[in-house]
Amino acid sequence: MEEHASKNALPVFDTLKKVFGFQSFRPNQVEIIRSILGGKDVFAVMPTGGGKSLCYQLPAKLLDGTAVVISPLISLMKDQVDAAVENGISAAFINSSLATQETAAVFRRLRDNSIELLYIAPERFAMTNFLETLKGVRISLFAVDEAHCISEWGHDFRPDYLSLSNIVKTFPKAPIAAFTATATPKVQDDIIVRLGLRQPFTVRASFDRQNLFYRVEGKRDLTAQIMNVLGKHAGEPGIIYRTTRDSVDSLSGFLSGQGIKALPYHAGLEQEERKANQEAFSKDEVHVIVATIAFGMGIDKSNVRFVIHADLPKNIEGYYQETGRAGRDGEPSDCVLFFGREDIPRIRYFIDQITNDAEREIALKKLNQVVRYASHNVCRRKQVLEYFGEDYAADNCNACDICTGKVEKVDITIDAQIFMSALSRTGQRFGIMHIIDIVTGADTKRIRELQHDTIKTYGAGKDKDKNHWRFIADELLAQEVIYQDGGTYPVLKLAEAGKSILFGKEKISALKREETKKKSRAGKWSGPEDYDQALFEKLRVLRKRLADEQRVPPYIIFSDKTLHEMCGRYPSSLHDLALISGVGDAKLERYGDEFITEIKAYLKENPGITVPANPFSCVPSGHAGGKPKGETFEKTYELFKQGLSVGEVAKSRNLAEATITAHIEQLIMEGRDIDIDRLIDPGKRDEIGKLFLTLRSWQLYPVIEHFKGAVSYEEAKIVRAYMRCKTG
Ligand code: ADP
Ligand code: MG
Repeated sequence: MEEHASKNALPVFDTLKKVFGFQSFRPNQVEIIRSILGGKDVFAVMPTGGGKSLCYQLPAKLLDGTAVVISPLISLMKDQVDAAVENGISAAFINSSLATQETAAVFRRLRDNSIELLYIAPERFAMTNFLETLKGVRISLFAVDEAHCISEWGHDFRPDYLSLSNIVKTFPKAPIAAFTATATPKVQDDIIVRLGLRQPFTVRASFDRQNLFYRVEGKRDLTAQIMNVLGKHAGEPGIIYRTTRDSVDSLSGFLSGQGIKALPYHAGLEQEERKANQEAFSKDEVHVIVATIAFGMGIDKSNVRFVIHADLPKNIEGYYQETGRAGRDGEPSDCVLFFGREDIPRIRYFIDQITNDAEREIALKKLNQVVRYASHNVCRRKQVLEYFGEDYAADNCNACDICTGKVEKVDITIDAQIFMSALSRTGQRFGIMHIIDIVTGADTKRIRELQHDTIKTYGAGKDKDKNHWRFIADELLAQEVIYQDGGTYPVLKLAEAGKSILFGKEKISALKREETKKKSRAGKWSGPEDYDQALFEKLRVLRKRLADEQRVPPYIIFSDKTLHEMCGRYPSSLHDLALISGVGDAKLERYGDEFITEIKAYLKENPGITVPANPFSCVPSGHAGGKPKGETFEKTYELFKQGLSVGEVAKSRNLAEATITAHIEQLIMEGRDIDIDRLIDPGKRDEIGKLFLTLRSWQLYPVIEHFKGAVSYEEAKIVRAYMRCKTG
């Protein structure tokens, strides 16, 4: 593994803080990073916003040589490189958008071994001059982003990706890490085989995006409903998906007429216009993009605060992927689906055009699943995760309309019987609307012609309105007590379970929720209000100016999450600012002063604001001043440096282990060269560290309590000292 020796002794956690400005790893990041650092191949499925880039960027920074990243989208490449450069990583890209001279310059830097992170488009791998150059370069690792593009089973197959199977043969020593956000087991196997990954360390992360709030509303007055959502997200970036180009254009026009900065995006627009609109969105120049599903692949914008689906999506995969574009920065974001049954026939129409029987069946099944998602009163998150084969165990996710609404379980057996009786008596040959007409006793021509006004259940449910019967029908469908059968005009049929209910052998109940939703109380989803919005506006303006100067999108300077944190903690020194998530050394140096100045000016204008005490900047009690501690500390230090464990040091000095730990704690705080990995397992350290940050307190007992005995006071103290030294 000589090739992969570390460039310097900065440990992983340190790099996370100094380069990226983050205090803790997202799930699976540290394991992936350690595998790469150990020279092992990796295959990782992580959701959008899961933080895949960091998994190869951090090793790129730590390892000698150049990390080569293969990425399919030219537009994303530039943003990723800009973001890396902002963090002080020496990064560059090569793709067809570069002029010959620019490409030559990158080649030169490459030969000089002065690029840490190189993004390339896949087709480069079929070019001999590129490969020859690369052969002369010290390579630290290969990262294949959007790796599903190599699989013909995937939904984004790109023939160019096939040439990536050369990597293993041509560069056998470099580890390869493949990343994707979508991979069925079949695609996964395909990726591993085609890239020739060698017993890769494999990660399938949870698809749960805790910061996303899922909500479904019945489509009634669509534009008013959309305006309502926009009102709650005034001035914030968001995406509205519509199915057709016409509806995109008309909605975007309507919103502009309402004074909202909105632009359209669909395949019918000229490429130039599409690009310009996307860029305007990316740079926060317009707030809302109204788009068909053609939009999304090419954006990495991290501060999308809401995604609205104004029409029913075709399947849950698509829905998940599109909503996944919200809240990449981890901040609370809304996903709203406006569901109207009238959308179903339109999608069915397209499904009916599929000539392959098996494919058509699958498409139909997927449509039914998304209808169930929208109409069934079951936690939305649970449904989405189950779709991806994950068992969501919590009984309240606290971040969907079902779990935060007032839900009441009601017995609907009698109404179900009325409905199914009408269905059965008319020979299971009619659709939903007609059955509802029968039970509500509607006087229509069709009913008279078919003499359905003579059957026993005609008008049996006329004391309740059509909406109620629609709800009953949806519920019966969702619970698979009845099902739809047939093409464009599906008819309702009774399933076995339906018969049992109809004949009184079983009961059926439904969850009914009040339309008025209340905010989640406890839990993960805290509303976006818990920061100083006036300051946020100011910082946002500053960020925009800096971004324009650098010609990068604003979120590359600082994410919304980072600004929000500033607006909750009012850092007034560089030291305090460095403690904010997302502020690494490079950005601190470049932008720190301007942000501090702005915050200070704001505090001066608003003397009433009380700045919360910063739990991370206090000097530990009893150790104030960090004075030299004399001989006894030096002795401990010396012995520890010689390689003795804490226990051994204690023994040899005839002191208690707790005393030695206290010495070491202090030595760490003084910034002495203590190899923390010898004291505590890095994984465990990260977990404890994360908890400190979550609790925003340096108290030990909550940490001890949380880990229920798995962590000792000594360990917690060491981690605390380590973190304080790193952050304070
Ligand atoms: P993906 O490629 O998996 O969709 P990205 O790599 O674009 O996700 O990361 C999404 C966002 O999360 C980015 O804004 C990134 O800076 C941020 N991020 C990544 N890792 C962390 C972390 N450990 N702590 C905080 N934010 C992170
Ligand atoms: Mg990515």
